Amino acid sequence: MIDSVYLDHNATTPMRPQAIAAMAEVMHAVGNASSVHTFGRAMRARVDRARATVATLVGAKAADIVFTGGGTEANNTVLQGAGRRRVVISAIEHDSVRLATDGAVVVPVTADGVIDLDALSHLLAASSEPGLVSVMLANNETGVIQPVADVVRIARTAGALVHCDAVQAAGKIAIDMTALGVDYLTLSAHKLGGPQGVGAVVLRPGVPFTAGQRGGGQERGRRAGTENTAGIAGFGAAATVAAEALSSSAALAVLRDKMEHDLAQVAPDAQIFGGGTSRLPNTSCVAMPGVAATTQLMALDLAGVAVSAGSACSSGKVKPSHVLAAMGATESEAASALRISLGWTTTADHVGRFVGAWSDLYRRLSPASRPATAAA
Ligand code: PLP
Repeated sequence: MIDSVYLDHNATTPMRPQAIAAMAEVMHAVGNASSVHTFGRAMRARVDRARATVATLVGAKAADIVFTGGGTEANNTVLQGAGRRRVVISAIEHDSVRLATDGAVVVPVTADGVIDLDALSHLLAASSEPGLVSVMLANNETGVIQPVADVVRIARTAGALVHCDAVQAAGKIAIDMTALGVDYLTLSAHKLGGPQGVGAVVLRPGVPFTAGQRGGGQERGRRAGTENTAGIAGFGAAATVAAEALSSSAALAVLRDKMEHDLAQVAPDAQIFGGGTSRLPNTSCVAMPGVAATTQLMALDLAGVAVSAGSACSSGKVKPSHVLAAMGATESEAASALRISLGWTTTADHVGRFVGAWSDLYRRLSPASRPATAAA
């Protein structure tokens, strides 16, 4: 049997062996990180080692990392715990930001999928109430990188705090929390080779932050509950590997760019969302006009290639992409878009197999590839 090809790394990427080893080591040990005896202190040391490596990945201090149960929890906690009632978000944020508060003001994006900075300035100037601005570092569907440092500059003039969801960017591009200037940053372990169900909020020292859940004093009172020590250890190990592997991102971009070039050769009408702007090196969002993404997805799955359709929601059903709609895509354009996301296990052969299967499909199903019906 031919091995399947996995090109859905933005949904989740395979765990790094070092992360699995770190988790196994913790699972063979015993101890609650809050206990004062030797076992507890050894467990606390593991958590603190992971805290230091996660902090290093984003240029922060270990004391400013708050471990959470994933990216969704981290986003919700910041949006509800920053103490600002007025929340301003971009139109392409992940649902864990969009649905975290009611009544957020939404800033449009350009056709390339980049936040409209003029619109942000105007929206912030429209109210004297200091708010919280939440803008992601890179979009999960298109990979488009957002001008977060510019967002911070504009937000500061309006006295606003800034949160940045860096879930998709971490491990794919270098992140320096200080250079970005944001107050809060969100991370998720499973997008960078760690386990699912672990994430972090990274705080700028001194920013307002109310814990999302109350109970014990874990995480310096910023997130109650016994720590997921195995998960945190896996996150820490994955963060170390991800930081070392950042230099191989350029090779991924070469694979992705060749893939897009090859698709365009076969299908001149294929549309690449955000293709004209700065993107993550691993992500491509491609529409095959006139062919439903669900049809493409199933045919590719049968051919042994796993990709994703626009935005797949948690129930596994495909819903219209708010990201592509915000970029001005028509309903039918958005409904024919696939997300192909490469990762650390991706080879040139994998990409070649995707291009082959996608091209076969295009020749069979695309209206543009069928010969025009001769006039009667
Ligand atoms: N933010 C972005 C941009 C994401 O892509 C995701 C997951 O797809 C999340 C947040 C949620 O992270 P988690 O799966 O850890 O809850």
